[in-house]
Amino acid sequence: MSQHRPHRLSDFVADLSDLLDQTGDEAVILREGGALLAQLVSVDDWLPEAQSRPDPTRYQQYLLHRDPAGRSSVVSFVWGPGQATPVHDHTVWGLVGVLRGAELSQRYEQRGDTLAATGEVHRLEPGEVEAVSPTVGDIHRVANAFDDRVSISIHVYGADIGTVRRATYDAEGRPKPFVSGYAAVPPPLLFDRASALAYGAAE
Ligand code: FE
Repeated sequence: MSQHRPHRLSDFVADLSDLLDQTGDEAVILREGGALLAQLVSVDDWLPEAQSRPDPTRYQQYLLHRDPAGRSSVVSFVWGPGQATPVHDHTVWGLVGVLRGAELSQRYEQRGDTLAATGEVHRLEPGEVEAVSPTVGDIHRVANAFDDRVSISIHVYGADIGTVRRATYDAEGRPKPFVSGYAAVPPPLLFDRASALAYGAAE
């Protein structure tokens, strides 16, 4: 039986908070925060079951941590088979690390009045991290690489991302205002100790 280690998330949150205390330099945050996230997603034994549950109709975004000062948030993205986001932006820095399965990411950039796909589709495997921001490229579409299994990635943003006013883009590249919110966390299954710990229900 695998042993859950929920402390990995609290260690990550503490290290990220220290980093944000030290610097506001986005390049440093993306580099050092990216290394912290790579470490977090290199081991898949800490995410509570309740925040890893897919929904048959659309991908889920479960809030794992929100910085009290609103400087950052940590979210688990749970992809059902074949699920994908629309093309969207973030308006703040973000880091994406794959924990389970694999994720496909296609970048877009503004060309005149429209959006164009740029570069190859990037496949992220477990333990791999990529960055987004208005500085390094902020518009992408992300999808589960699998059409027959769940994938999960951990996303970290430089704001309380569920409340940020941003945009999705249609096929013609027209922006549509968008606020993602967060998915409601389902009640934990009784046998899942990591979820029970997260809810304060176990010793
Ligand atoms: Fe995104």
